[in-house]
Amino acid sequence: MDNQKPSSEAAELVRARTQLGGFDVTICTDGTYLLDGGAMFGVVPKTLWQKRTPADEQNRILLGLNSVVVRTGKHVVVIETGIGNKQNEKMREIHQNQELLPQSLAAAGVRPEEVDIVVNTHLHFDHCGWNTTLHPDGSVTPTFPNARYFAHKGEVEHGHMQYDRDRISYLSPNYDPLIESGQMTLLTTEGIHTNPEIVPGISVELFPGHTRQLMGVHIQSGNEHACYISDLIPTSAHLDPTWVMGYDLDPMECIAQRKRFYQRAIPEKWLVLFTHDYHTPMARVELNDKGKPVAVKV
Ligand SMILES: [Zn+2]
Repeated sequence: MDNQKPSSEAAELVRARTQLGGFDVTICTDGTYLLDGGAMFGVVPKTLWQKRTPADEQNRILLGLNSVVVRTGKHVVVIETGIGNKQNEKMREIHQNQELLPQSLAAAGVRPEEVDIVVNTHLHFDHCGWNTTLHPDGSVTPTFPNARYFAHKGEVEHGHMQYDRDRISYLSPNYDPLIESGQMTLLTTEGIHTNPEIVPGISVELFPGHTRQLMGVHIQSGNEHACYISDLIPTSAHLDPTWVMGYDLDPMECIAQRKRFYQRAIPEKWLVLFTHDYHTPMARVELNDKGKPVAVKV
């Protein structure tokens, strides 16, 4: 992916496509949003991070909202659903987000009715927003009417607790209606250890730290392996194990989990899918001559 904004509208709406073994993988997008650069890079000094990610005059950086569509041949799987259309005006003003996922899916030739699996890596507002759609009459309906949705039970419980630290990130209309209707399956840590597979070729694995039950999603077909590592490594500028986010609940655990991830992702040449990198939604990871992980464009 190059660093210039694509010129055609269709190219902006579909961020990348690739073939992974027998699977078609498409990176769709809910558009971009702005977050404070300091919050995104935690204790890393701005003099260092701004070389990789320029900030605007309000110290905000541009981030993507990448949703992955996997056509396995038997299933149409959507990983993550962006911010959605339930943000109030104040939040839209802060984030400057565009609510593009429906148009992005249409541009990629994906009909909401044909999606049969939706996976949320965790339930922060910017990862599950289009699970449901808000209509002008105030009603909320599933965006993917025929899908079974999957999320971790501990994420729902954490969201319902409405802790001072992160209650702003958990919006129950993104998941409660689906739980009440029986359309969302809540995974448990024990259940994932016993059977991590959602459908053949798509499985989840816990990578805690950003939240206690953050799940990465493995996509495997033939001898090829991709992993949507979600907010454990939100962008390609966050590959250094110590460049964790101010938002992370447990930064020490994030550092350990990143190292654990690289132990397989680098030697096995996984395609790493970044949740919030607008310009580089996918890359392979290699170690540079200083031994630091870096993104290699595909
Ligand atoms: Zn998050």
